[in-house]
Amino acid sequence: MTKILDGKKLGKKIAAKLKKEISNLSTSPMLAIIQVGDVAQSSAYIDRKKKFAAEIGAKVHHIILPLDIAEKDILDLIKELNERTDIHGIIVQLPIPKHLDRFAIMEAISPSKDVDGLTSRNAGLIYERAFGGADPKNVPAGLIPATAKGIISLLKENKIALSGKKVLVIGRSLLVGKPVAMLCLRENATVTIAHSKTKDLDKVCKENDIIIVAAGKAGLIGKKALTKKHIVIDVGTNTPSKKTLEEIGAKKLVGDVNFKEAAKLVAAISPVPGGIGPMTVASLFENLVEAYKRGK
Ligand code: NAP
Repeated sequence: MTKILDGKKLGKKIAAKLKKEISNLSTSPMLAIIQVGDVAQSSAYIDRKKKFAAEIGAKVHHIILPLDIAEKDILDLIKELNERTDIHGIIVQLPIPKHLDRFAIMEAISPSKDVDGLTSRNAGLIYERAFGGADPKNVPAGLIPATAKGIISLLKENKIALSGKKVLVIGRSLLVGKPVAMLCLRENATVTIAHSKTKDLDKVCKENDIIIVAAGKAGLIGKKALTKKHIVIDVGTNTPSKKTLEEIGAKKLVGDVNFKEAAKLVAAISPVPGGIGPMTVASLFENLVEAYKRGK
């Protein structure tokens, strides 16, 4: 029978642990969220973060900026937030409008407050530490992008060992694919990274034990790619057309995996919703508490 890797349940367990930890701190950790434009999709993600923060006793300072904000004004705001001692984490809700330089904006965040783990400093530290499972001397722990961190936590909670396993990561973004591939490598998995130019993806899936898919393509992975030995982590969050939903027999929000087909077949799968989404939020606040403690 297929095991469901329940991110909602683990998210609640992490919330309880963080709540206890925060109750023992002298002040509440505070996360600053910068949102450019009141875009519905971003607002929904932010609401989830605010809800989680309220549950654990953390604070959120939500700043909504106009869509046509000048880059200098955002950089000035980040500088001010970097200097504030009552702010422990800063995130810029992505995506941001095209006239803004995403790299320059991310780089402006102090690495010690970069709880999304997207500055080159934190991204680089993942590579430094991603070998052999051993921590090299004198390399500080960075802050790990929340989705990647959440995936590893969900696998560990379900006692799914990565060591010696063949892991296929589908997607190579800075946010998910690349960091999760490096974390799997650190756990001694043999890692393959696939992307939009990969040929014969179904065949590549069959050659691997664990598939982590973060492509943003509804129904990309189905029964042709899967076998009963597979462990599947579905990161994708898609809201496809009515026609596609009918074709894959799904409701409003779907992942990259045809859940209906996979759930009859594979050894274990994380659902969408209720899998990696809640793990991402929980891991973000783990990072916030970590940043708070390191700052003390
Ligand atoms: P992204 O930056 O758009 O990257 C998508 C990656 O998938 C790219 O590397 C792309 O390849 C690859 N890809 C696209 N089509 C493909 C195909 N047909 N076959 C193989 N690879 C393909 O997206 P992202 O930010 O990593 O996010 C990926 C998905 O995860 C999205 O649905 C996003 O909403 C979701 N997500 C969910 C959470 C959560 O909390 N649940 C968090 C983050 C992201 P190329 O590099 O060749 O273009």
